[in-house]
Amino acid sequence: MKELYRKKIRDILEQKETEKEIIVKGWVRTKRGNNKIAFIAINDGSIVHNLQVVADVPKFKEEILEKMSTGTCIEVRGKLAESPGKGQEVELHADEITLYGPADPETYPLQKKGHSLEFLREIAHLRPRTNTFGAILRLRHHLSYAIHKYFNDKGFYYMHTPIITGSDCEGAGEMFRVTTLDPKSPPLTKDGKVDFNEDFFGKETNLTVSGQLEGETGALALSTIYTFGPTFRAENSNTPRHLAEFWMIEPEMAFYDIHDNMDLAEDLLKYLIRYILDHCMTDLEFLQKMYDDGLIERLDFVLAHDFVRTVYSEAIEILKKADQPFEFPVEWGKDLQSEHERYLVEKHFRKPVMLTDYPKDIKAFYMKQNDDGLTVRALDVLFPKIGEIIGGSQREENYEKLRQRILELNLPEKDLWWYLETRKFGTAPHSGFGLGFERFMLFISGMNNIRDVIPFPRTPNNAEF
Ligand code: ATP
Ligand code: MN
Repeated sequence: MKELYRKKIRDILEQKETEKEIIVKGWVRTKRGNNKIAFIAINDGSIVHNLQVVADVPKFKEEILEKMSTGTCIEVRGKLAESPGKGQEVELHADEITLYGPADPETYPLQKKGHSLEFLREIAHLRPRTNTFGAILRLRHHLSYAIHKYFNDKGFYYMHTPIITGSDCEGAGEMFRVTTLDPKSPPLTKDGKVDFNEDFFGKETNLTVSGQLEGETGALALSTIYTFGPTFRAENSNTPRHLAEFWMIEPEMAFYDIHDNMDLAEDLLKYLIRYILDHCMTDLEFLQKMYDDGLIERLDFVLAHDFVRTVYSEAIEILKKADQPFEFPVEWGKDLQSEHERYLVEKHFRKPVMLTDYPKDIKAFYMKQNDDGLTVRALDVLFPKIGEIIGGSQREENYEKLRQRILELNLPEKDLWWYLETRKFGTAPHSGFGLGFERFMLFISGMNNIRDVIPFPRTPNNAEF
């Protein structure tokens, strides 16, 4: 017997090798036809498109074809042929159909009709089988690969920073405690507080909000590193742009000042957009058709223009003169809200914007202090539709200034001894930033809610699956 092998639908549609005998495996999307001929659209997730399977009904046992309802998993052996019908160039003429797993049409939730994104979140275990989430998962894959490729090609090393951290001082957001103590009766100290000496690590630990501090130790040794891993924030902000668990890309570079940092951020974002345009057009076109008319145009637009570079104080002046009211007040010293960021990007500059030199009091302790005594060398990159997509800075490399700032802010110096030592021994000017993977996915996919660009979103009151 001839050796047959399984082919993925993506390759079949690309290669169009008619007359070939093949095996296809996947899930039934639709079945139609009559008592002579049946058309079964099958999808295996390798591409958004289905393969049309044509079956001569009399050739098959009745119960086999009867069970081919939406969601059923099957294997089809057959011959590929040119398709006379509209909508596809090739189709598979079935010789043999094997049923792997039926899906009862009475109870299988993903029937043909379109479902709301809200409903699909409730069945996150099945939504990868929809065209939308197939496209999202493929985009996430290609984007992740492109991130590693970009940094590898530039000589950056991928550093694995810890997920469990013992320092609660990054200030990026509320943290999730990691503990093995009994919540009903934790050991107590003499003055009645929980005794974390008794805890697993012998101290308080949390899930990391960022790999940056540890990433800096790598940059001050290997020159250029990046981390790309999960980060956690217990912020109770129920917004379409915040998750409690999200992925972050964090490069850290020795000998980079704030301008080098901006060059890298712009180059990285443009590289990733170009990569996705070059490799994921089928999925982009699908998402554009379904969710966002302006998607591909917006991606092209970002590639075609230099990002605007200006300072926070200038942005405040612009916002004060804005011809529209804001919900949150505009005032030097206050952080920018997403409505302000989007005004700057979408109405005023009409381009991505890189803002630097924020007031030191709204930024983290490790940012390099400017000579004015008021601002720090922070960098935020603001994008259309999203607002802040990157947060970063040149880091304070001066031991005394850094220590002073830690004391001023009442941060626990004893937990930061190792961080301070990177400045005590062989310090160097250095910079870095954090790019939120899901924020960027929002931009790339045209989706509006961050819950719809990650397989299993974690948000307040939601950790199902
Ligand atoms: P925001 O003001 O939007 O909450 P942030 O200032 O807390 O952001 P940073 O601490 O600078 O953000 O984190 C770096 C990047 O990580 C952000 O620019 C954003 O892309 C992403 N990010 C931050 N918080 C979240 C979150 N809760 N969910 C998803 N992405 C996030
Ligand atoms: Mn935040």
